[in-house]
Formats: sequence, C-alpha cells, structure tokens
Amino acid sequence: MDVIVARNRAELAEARRALGAHGGISGGTAELALVPTMGALHEGHRSLMRLAREQADHVAVSVFVNPLQFGPNEDFSRYPRTFDADLEVCAAEGVGLVFAPSADDMYLPDRQVGVSAGRMGTVAEGAFRPGHLDGVLTVVLKLFNLVRPDVAVFGRKDAQQLAMIRRMVADLDVPVAVVGGPTVREADGLALSSRNRYLSGDDRRAALSLSRALFAGAERRTPAEIRRAAREVLDGEPAVSLDYLILVDPATFEEVGDDHEGEAILAVAAKVGSTRLIDNVTVTL
Ligand code: AMP
Repeated sequence: MDVIVARNRAELAEARRALGAHGGISGGTAELALVPTMGALHEGHRSLMRLAREQADHVAVSVFVNPLQFGPNEDFSRYPRTFDADLEVCAAEGVGLVFAPSADDMYLPDRQVGVSAGRMGTVAEGAFRPGHLDGVLTVVLKLFNLVRPDVAVFGRKDAQQLAMIRRMVADLDVPVAVVGGPTVREADGLALSSRNRYLSGDDRRAALSLSRALFAGAERRTPAEIRRAAREVLDGEPAVSLDYLILVDPATFEEVGDDHEGEAILAVAAKVGSTRLIDNVTVTL
C-alpha cells in the first residue's frame, strides 16, 4: 500500500479517515501507532517502525524538525533533511501515514502555552540544553493531539526524553500507551544517530569511546566502579569534549547514591568535533 503523506493538519484529518483509524481499539489490537521523528531516518527509526507494526494495525510516522527543542546555538538550521529518502524508508517498512507539517502549520504565531518538563527537565540533558525537554514535550503532546494514536513508540537512545514522555502521560492523563524500543548500534558499538553523518573519519573514531565507556562501566558492579571505569575510557580520548557522564535513577534522572539497588542508567553526552552526541545503557545494581 502507498504511504499517505499529510503536509498539514487538514491533510492529516483526511489521511486518518482514509486509513480508517478512528482512535479506537478493535479486537485487542491498537489501531494506530505513532513513531515521532525528526527525519533523516536510519536503522534505529526503522526498528521503532517495526515495533509499532507489532502494536497496531496502522503505523504513522511524523517527520518534523521541531524548532522549539533547539537552543539558539544548536544545529536547527543544519539538521539533516532527507525527506524523499525518508518516504522510501517508510514505504519499505509498511508505514501507512507520514505526517510532515511545516513549523508554521504546527505553531501559531502568537502561541503562548507549552508543557513544562518540571524538575526532571532541568537535570542531565536539561542542564546542558535549557528548555529542550519543554520543547520536546510540547511537540509530542501536539503530535498526540493531532495524530491521535493509541500507541506511541520512542527509542531508549533518548532515555531521558522517553522517561519524560512517560511522566507527561502519567501526570496529564494523556490517553496514549508509550512503548520504548532498544538502541540500535553499528557493529562496532556506535549508537545510530541522524547526527552521525556530520562526523569526519577522525571524529567517528573518537565518538566510539562513548559506547566503549558505557560498556566498560556496565561490566562493573557498584556505582563508584561503574563511574570510574567509564570515565577512564573517556579520559583516554582527548578529542571528546564531555558534557556529562552520569549514573542516574531511570525515573528521575537524579544521580544514584552508593546504596542504590535495581536499575540505573549510565548516560553520556559529549561533543566530538562540532557534533554533540548522547548515548546510554541500563545497568542493574
Ligand atoms: P530523532 O529523529 O533523532 O528525534 O529520533 C526519533 C526517535 O528515534 C526517538 O524516539 C529516538 O529515541 C529514536 N532513535 C534515535 N536513534 C535511535 C537508535 N539508534 N536506536 C533506536 N531508536 C533511536
């Protein structure tokens, strides 16, 4: 079946009708699953589309580079935009609907109200990208309201984003089931990212130290050992400019103490050349 492309909210309403998805549940299967993306689609996105297909009769993918979640000195204008290739990926994955609105269609010129990410939006990523998680939650809630999926699928690659979306859905009673998918990596461990295409050969070699650090940490047992093992790897790579290396509670993204038991997330963010990368693994303490 061909992919229906909706470039604005009127076309989206029409497309939903054409798909026959009215936001209900039939026969125990959700009717519509949404995979929100910023495009420049890769295997990581594809894995989420496959997960979405297992969850619902129809899959919608949104492609929207959301200006609200970029800071003034970030890469909004140079973020890769590869819409024709993205459509081919969606068609190959059996996606029924691609929603690709313009920023003008998404945001009213006099918009005032947005979602506040609260305290969790100010730690970890939020400490380095002020307002970023507010921007993410605002666009995700808008996409939910426009597309009206039963299920939405997000990658654990953006662990704090996923945790915040779960928090928003719980705190604001949003009627969407949130599903997380595992991080897809290159054979050598580098987490796939649309931003990897910015990396030069030398950058890419240096970027590998992020996943190597996480894997080294994940082999240790205590918070202190985990942090030390991971840091040692990063200290050995001068081309990596570290924003943070943290071991946090998955529900709050606050640093865990030495007595923490259960799951924790070892997360890293760093600049390699001019490209900022993030990655994380889950460890059990
Ligand atoms: P983005 O287009 O980067 O905003 O990402 C769209 C969705 O894909 C988010 O839910 C990301 O967490 C997810 N994603 C990005 N990279 C990966 C990856 N390597 N593996 C799995 N999911 C990913």
